[in-house]
Amino acid sequence: MLKIGSHVSFRKDTQLLGSLDEALSYGSTTFMFYTGAPQNTNRIPLNSNLTKMAISKMKDNNIDIKDIIVHAPYIINLANSDPNKYIFSINFLKQECKRCEELGVNKLVLHPGSHVGLGEEAGIKNIINALNQILPATKTTILLETMSGKGTELGVNLEQIKTIIDGVKYNNIGICLDTCHLSDAGYDMNDFDSLLDKMDKMELLDLVGCIHINDSKNPIGSHKDRHENIGFGYLGFDILINIIYNDRLKNISKILETPYVGEFAPYKLEIDMIKNKKFEKNLKEMATLQ
Ligand code: FE
Ligand code: FE
Ligand code: ZN
Repeated sequence: MLKIGSHVSFRKDTQLLGSLDEALSYGSTTFMFYTGAPQNTNRIPLNSNLTKMAISKMKDNNIDIKDIIVHAPYIINLANSDPNKYIFSINFLKQECKRCEELGVNKLVLHPGSHVGLGEEAGIKNIINALNQILPATKTTILLETMSGKGTELGVNLEQIKTIIDGVKYNNIGICLDTCHLSDAGYDMNDFDSLLDKMDKMELLDLVGCIHINDSKNPIGSHKDRHENIGFGYLGFDILINIIYNDRLKNISKILETPYVGEFAPYKLEIDMIKNKKFEKNLKEMATLQ
């Protein structure tokens, strides 16, 4: 079964159950969410009743909780060794891992970090050191996301990801590919199989635990990180369909992080296009009519 879904909200009052209901309303078979606002540290206590109800509803709908993804908040930066910020990031990420465990989710996507002028090597060292403190204390698997290379972001190429993973002493580490970011970073998504071959040779392919499926508003190599709806950007519909249905990534969750159309979520329509393998050129007009 195709594992496709989108980023969904996680609300105070409905929590995991509300996220699941939103995902089901789009026809999703998986989903991703933040456990709280990504830009601040306010976290509401988790309601175990809502979690239990959500897990049992997943079973009724043939959704495997192992396919569900949490995205770490973007205020975490493990590459910056400024003492206050570094310790904050490590502690906050430890807490997020605990929240994942409480929710029964075992995959947490993380932006590796930005070196903020410290340089690539120092930044990567900081990330490795932080992960070696966080990973032994949790069952959660942290998936390092491939980044577009905006600003001083790290994890912008396979070599950096490989260096981090080689420096980590624990097995609960993996990779999240992002199609917009890969293209922005300079990888040709027309030739996705060569990228997978390269990952295979580097012993990275088996570590992929999630793929973010996004079109890009910008051409290859632009380092801008601006997502576009499926089929409306520089990657295009056919390339993204080839990635989604690639045999080597069959069992991996594919998550849309495409923009809203005005105030409307386009995910039901995008997921329908993907399931039917047929581009809908009026998607944006249709989204506003839902
Ligand atoms: Fe991300
Ligand atoms: Fe992403
Ligand atoms: Zn992005």
